[in-house]
Amino acid sequence: MTVGIVGAGQLGRMMALAGYPLGLDFLFLDRDAQTPGGQVGPILSGEFTDATLLAQLSQRCEVVTFDWENIPVESLENLPGKARISPPLRALAAAQDRLSEKRTFELLGIPTTRYAAVESRASLETAVQTIGLPGVLKTRRMGYDGKGQLVLRKPAELDAAWEALGKAPLLYENLVPFDAEVSVIAVRGADGAVAFYPLNLNVHREGILRLTRAPYGNAALTRQAQRAARKLLEHFNYVGVLTIEFFVKKGRLTANEMAPRVHNSGHWTIEGADTSQFENHVRAIAGLPLGSTRARGHSAMINLIGELPTREPLLREAGLHWHDYGKTARPGRKLGHLTLTETSPKSRDLRTFKLLSRVDRATWLAIR
Ligand code: AMP
Repeated sequence: MTVGIVGAGQLGRMMALAGYPLGLDFLFLDRDAQTPGGQVGPILSGEFTDATLLAQLSQRCEVVTFDWENIPVESLENLPGKARISPPLRALAAAQDRLSEKRTFELLGIPTTRYAAVESRASLETAVQTIGLPGVLKTRRMGYDGKGQLVLRKPAELDAAWEALGKAPLLYENLVPFDAEVSVIAVRGADGAVAFYPLNLNVHREGILRLTRAPYGNAALTRQAQRAARKLLEHFNYVGVLTIEFFVKKGRLTANEMAPRVHNSGHWTIEGADTSQFENHVRAIAGLPLGSTRARGHSAMINLIGELPTREPLLREAGLHWHDYGKTARPGRKLGHLTLTETSPKSRDLRTFKLLSRVDRATWLAIR
């Protein structure tokens, strides 16, 4: 069976690397072969919207998935080939627009932030009056890794924020003074079977994920997260991996956003779980049985952003796993990650903090 992946970033690459041992083949679509996925599998080179290439992908594959949620939904609709598309495009469409994402959470009774759509300077004023300050103004579309968002603390900041972001449709929401950020990674098979990984505790800096530790949280938090994920999976008749990011405040979860795909906060599952999120996504969309999501010990994942540290001293660390995505270094760009797994949360945290002080000092200083 050949799996088509629209987008050949590191997520696509890790899906393929997890799927080859299952006997699956892969075909990517992305701009050029120098992408992380293009280095490990065949690639059709062109735009995500190129109808001819998308038709080829759909003719040559049994199932098509995506590793990026900002692919225009219209270009994936009504493909002429034989491939089915997983996860469903309805879920992709909901996740692409922060307003439909919030409405979906509300419809399903999943607690989320207070929010208002902002289309004009006047409606920004109204939104801020209704929801209050501080708040976050976000572009409805194409926002990721903290891009396209500004925190508003004083009425005097509204003009500049509108000037900076007002060209696109926006959403305003209250700033949550969270105790922690967590995510849940869930997977639903083609037969409707559902499995959850343990909760991830995430640290962001400048809107970008820096550190994940798992398993995290007590039974009550886990129940809230799984209830939310199950509702979304069933609502969309979903097949594949789905991620929800939450804020934690006083033991309650508030949904921030969802991703209809494998997620950066689940990279630890490659070495730290019985079956990785990538393998389970591929199993689900290929119609294979899901694998166990049990954690093997206590893992940490550190993102390598902007530049890679020197590899050799890190490779000498017992049990440390080095992942280089094969990308050109650029400030703010995710180039790779490190994973370590320990037998207790305490020993994991001790090692993680030491490592963090070497490879991401700013995050270490912020959280130590
Ligand atoms: P997002 O792109 O919405 O995931 O935002 C990136 C990061 O910005 C989040 O992981 C939070 O750390 C922070 N953030 C975004 N929205 C809010 C909010 N309403 N309240 C507090 N922090 C937020």
